[in-house]
Amino acid sequence: MKTDSLKTNLFSIEQDYIIKAANIIKAGGLVAFPTETVYGLGADALNPAACAKIFQAKNRPLEDPLIVHIADKQDLFKVAREVYKITLDLVDVFWPGPLTIVLKKQEIIPDIVTGGLDTIAVRMPNHKIALELIKEAQTPIAAPSANLFGRPSPTTAQHVLEDLDGKIDLIIDGGSTAIGVESTIVDLTQDPFCVLRPGGIGIEQLRRIIPQIGPYRKYGILSAGMYPRHYAPNAKVLIVEGNGKMQAEKVKDLAREFALQGYCFGILAKFENKDKYGDFNVKLLGPGNDLVACAANLFSVLRNFDKDRVDIIIAEAVKEEGLGVAIMDRLRRAQGIKMKHV
Ligand code: AMP
Ligand code: MG
Repeated sequence: MKTDSLKTNLFSIEQDYIIKAANIIKAGGLVAFPTETVYGLGADALNPAACAKIFQAKNRPLEDPLIVHIADKQDLFKVAREVYKITLDLVDVFWPGPLTIVLKKQEIIPDIVTGGLDTIAVRMPNHKIALELIKEAQTPIAAPSANLFGRPSPTTAQHVLEDLDGKIDLIIDGGSTAIGVESTIVDLTQDPFCVLRPGGIGIEQLRRIIPQIGPYRKYGILSAGMYPRHYAPNAKVLIVEGNGKMQAEKVKDLAREFALQGYCFGILAKFENKDKYGDFNVKLLGPGNDLVACAANLFSVLRNFDKDRVDIIIAEAVKEEGLGVAIMDRLRRAQGIKMKHV
């Protein structure tokens, strides 16, 4: 059966759609919905059977825990315990928004949500559809990205359908997501506190609230990054570091080499380099000095290369600051090599 997709205008959200989606969540079904980061695949976080369906649909390993989404800051206390002032300070500044906080979990959270851990990852998304859906469902919603495990995350409803059509009950189509990379995850149960995944909130911003927060580290601790190849298109990704002329020269050398060898390849380039690569298959990430635009385009461009069936993507590195840290993290993991610890 094909999955229903209900498209709604963000300025006047169709309440019928929200009610229909919320009823599916209440009945233990799966609904994909937009957030400000990427599309999520939601289930009732208090219903273990419903959450099990998420893992099945995505083909996700059970030990990879889910993020729980709430629509009201007060609900944090229902899902997490040992919520101290530092947590509330972060919540005050960054929620609703792309910051996921790992805390000790409350009993009511089933083990399947947390991969058996005593901790829970929780956030309040900054998206009207997501918030209305959670409120209407009257339950926290567990929602990882709505893609097949290991694939680039979906930033449009079309991406969700490409991966999950027929496997989930409904999609609410709210157009392209604004940020385009996943939330930043901070773990407040570790000493010192640390960032488990760079994302929509830059580490510089976090440091204003928690100056002592560690450089992000230990992908070894349960994080999507414990999988060496993740967020990955089918093509092999090859990152060319640096910037300016030197970077473009290196890209050109590689492109000529691959062309000689008869590979089907593409170049993921910054806007300013768009004319440097002649007739090669070039797709643009965004202007190098506009990392917000680059993040918003990243996953979509990776998926488009897959549609062209390229074997290799030569990717120009972007500046590793602000959202650029998250972009480079995703590119490195798409490349499938060991992470650089910033
Ligand atoms: P996503 O697939 O984008 O929803 O990301 C889910 C990610 O959140 C997981 O892969 C983990 O990295 C992280 N996560 C969720 N729950 C926990 C937890 N209890 N402790 C540490 N990381 C967590
Ligand atoms: Mg994911």
